[in-house]
Amino acid sequence: MDFGLSEQDAAVQAAVRAFAAEHLAPAARRADEEGAFDGTRVPLLGEAGLLGGPIDPAHGGRGWTHVQWALALMELGAVDSSWRGFATVQTCLCGMLIERFGTDAQRSALLPGLTSGRAIFAYALTEPEAGTDVASLRTTATADGDGWQLHGTKHWITNGGVADHIVVFANADPDAGKNGMACFLVAGDAAGLKREPMEGQELGHRASDHATLKFDGVRVGPDDVVGGVGGGFDVAMGGLGEGRLGVAAGAVGIQQAALDACLDWTRTRRQFGRRIGDFQLVQSDLAEMHAALESTRLLTLKAAWQRDHGEDNHRAVSVAKWAACEAAVMAADKAVLLHGARGYTSAYPVERLLRDAKGLQIYEGTAHIQRIIIARDLLGKESR
Ligand SMILES: Cc1cc2nc3c(=O)[nH]c(=O)nc-3n(C[C@H](O)[C@H](O)[C@H](O)COP(=O)(O)OP(=O)(O)OC[C@H]3O[C@@H](n4cnc5c(N)ncnc54)[C@H](O)[C@@H]3O)c2cc1C
Repeated sequence: MDFGLSEQDAAVQAAVRAFAAEHLAPAARRADEEGAFDGTRVPLLGEAGLLGGPIDPAHGGRGWTHVQWALALMELGAVDSSWRGFATVQTCLCGMLIERFGTDAQRSALLPGLTSGRAIFAYALTEPEAGTDVASLRTTATADGDGWQLHGTKHWITNGGVADHIVVFANADPDAGKNGMACFLVAGDAAGLKREPMEGQELGHRASDHATLKFDGVRVGPDDVVGGVGGGFDVAMGGLGEGRLGVAAGAVGIQQAALDACLDWTRTRRQFGRRIGDFQLVQSDLAEMHAALESTRLLTLKAAWQRDHGEDNHRAVSVAKWAACEAAVMAADKAVLLHGARGYTSAYPVERLLRDAKGLQIYEGTAHIQRIIIARDLLGKESR
C-alpha cells in the first residue's frame, strides 16, 4: 500500500488549490449572499481542467486519474460548494455519462464544449413526485414519427435555467417500469421547454442555478437517445455513481475548510485568560473533526483508486459518500459553535459550510439511500 501522492497527483492538487484561491475564493461570500450564479467563470474552470479532468484527452478532457479528480474536487469543495457542485454536474453526471454511454457522434459533438466550458450542461432526473424513487418518474417519451415527444416536469435541476444542453430521463414505456426508461439529450432552447427558477431561497448552494423544467411536447430524435431506449435507468445510475464520488470529495473539502478555520480561530481567540484551543472540550471537537476528515479522505481516495484500477467500487462509493457527508455536517456544525456568535454570521465562512453541507446529504442519493445500498450489498440476495 502507498498512501503518498505521486508527483502528478500533487501537481493537480496544487494547481487546483491555487486556481480556487485566486478565482473562486474572493467571490464566494458575495455570490452566496447575492444568490447569483456567475456563468462568466465557467470557461475559466474549463481552462483549469476542472470540467474535463477525468475525461479522455481524445474527447477534450485532461485524462486525470479518478484519484486526481477527487483531489481536485476536494480543493474546490473547500472553497465553494456551488462551484464544486457545478463541476460535479457538468463533468460527472453529464460528461462522464456521455463519454461512457453516448455514441461517437454525441461524444464529438458535445464533449469539447463541455470540457472547455463553452457549453453548460444539466442532468434532469428528479421530479416533484419522483425523488429517491427514480424508477417512478412520470415524464413520458411518446412515439412521434422516428422520434419522441417529451411531456413532464423536472425540479431542483442544477444549471437547469442556464444549460445549453440537458440530459433528460423519461419513460418511453411506462408499463415496463424502469425498463422503459430512456435518456435523451435536449437543447436548452428546445421548443416546448419552459424553465423557471425554483420557488423559495435555498438553504445552501446559493450561488448555483436551480430550476424547474417543464416539457410540453419537446421533440427528440433517434440521435438524441443516450444508451438506448430501455437503458435509461442504468445510464442514470452510471452518472450518479461518478457524481457520488465527486460529492464525497466535496464533503472532504468542506471538512478541511471547517477544521482549518477552527484551528486558526481557536489558536487566537482568548477567553478566561487562555486561547480557547487550550480547553479540553474544544480540543475534543478539533480531534473529532480531524479523525473524521482523515478517515473520510481515505475512504474517498480508496473508492477513486478502485475506479482507476477497474475494480467494482459501487459499495465503496456509497460508504464514502455517506460517511464524508455526515462528517461534513458534523464538522461545519462544530465549526459554527467553536466560532461562537461570529460563526453565526456570513462575515465568517463557517455558517455557509454548514448550509452547503446539508445539501450534500440530500442530492445524488440521500444519506438514507446510501446506507440502504451498503446494507443490501452486504446482505446479498436471499437464496430460496
Ligand atoms: C442543492 C441540490 C441540487 C440538486 N441538483 C439536482 C440535479 O442537478 N438534478 C436532479 O435530477 N436532481 C437534483 N437535486 C434533487 C435531489 O437529487 C433530490 O432532492 C434527492 O434525490 C431526494 O429526492 P426528494 O427531494 O424528492 O426526497 P424524497 O425522495 O421524497 O425523500 C424524502 C425523505 O425520505 C427518505 N426516503 C425516501 N425513500 C426512502 C427509502 N426507501 N428508505 C428510507 N428513506 C427513504 C429520504 O432519504 C429523505 O430523507 C438536487 C437537490 C439539491 C438539494
